Amino acid sequence: MSCLSKPINQRMPPSKSAIPGLGRNAARAMRLAAALALPAMAFPARAITVQFDYSYDTRGFFTDSVSGEPIAERRALLELAAGTYARFSDHLTPISPQAGDTWSVTITHPSLGGPPLTLTDLSVAADTIRVYVGGSPSAPGVLGFAGTGSNLNANGSAAFVADVNSRGQTNTSGDSASDYGVWGGYIWFNAAQDWYFGAAAGLSPGRPDFLTTATHELGHILGFGTADSWFSQIDETGHTFTGAASTAVYGGPVPLDSFYSHWAEGVNSDVDGIIQETLMDPSTVRGQRELMTRLDYAGFSDIGWQVTAVPLPASAWLFGSTLLGWFGRSRRKSA
Ligand SMILES: [Zn+2]
Repeated sequence: MSCLSKPINQRMPPSKSAIPGLGRNAARAMRLAAALALPAMAFPARAITVQFDYSYDTRGFFTDSVSGEPIAERRALLELAAGTYARFSDHLTPISPQAGDTWSVTITHPSLGGPPLTLTDLSVAADTIRVYVGGSPSAPGVLGFAGTGSNLNANGSAAFVADVNSRGQTNTSGDSASDYGVWGGYIWFNAAQDWYFGAAAGLSPGRPDFLTTATHELGHILGFGTADSWFSQIDETGHTFTGAASTAVYGGPVPLDSFYSHWAEGVNSDVDGIIQETLMDPSTVRGQRELMTRLDYAGFSDIGWQVTAVPLPASAWLFGSTLLGWFGRSRRKSA
């Protein structure tokens, strides 16, 4: 599958003084955020587990280059990003090669520290995906990219081959695909960015939010802009996504970016009724945290994920600097 980047949008959130009434609204929103802070501790049981693998984190992004110790703060944020997908309740069959079974997939080195890696006969537990992560410095602009690899090849029993290709989901390939299952993938992060590595308040203007980018890139591995069941619902003429759940939330076909791999830049939806730019549009405003919006969840639902109606743990992540952005850009486009 292709690599997908989430470059930085250089636009800055509007300054506080530029928007009449923002101060009062923001103050109210911050009180709301404080009130919602506690439920963050009580995530529902996770249906889909993301097992992060640091084997190829060879350039010091998640592992201290000197001591060899894990960088716990950064790894914890990956886990928090994975928690966004706690609403996905599909049952993924395990990948467990038996005698006569073999499979392989080739991925980009997640630290760009060497040639592509061919992974062979990995075992992946039920309801789990494996994601290889790393980072290295690169040109400014790009925050990260993700993919599910190429040359996926499985041989052996029919059940084993199906487990590798679709994880027990049905109708996952071709022009009329309606569901999706995946073994996992890889994510590369740009170490040259001045990342904000925090879970709560503290993101300042001008800095990209690591949690937002990690959550976005996981979304690509989970099929957004990559799955056959995504591409089967695209109107190329109108340049829109026509999935039923997404169309219902947005109020019509949803505009896409030029590669059909994201919502169009600046497509808004909401998180618990608060307007926000979608997580799965192509870029992130510096200094802004973008959570999974209602429209993003609808997109994943259309791809084939069972999205349960548990309360949004994301509501606990609201904090001041993000809300300033929301209130400053609160043109409501979606229904
Ligand atoms: Zn992207």
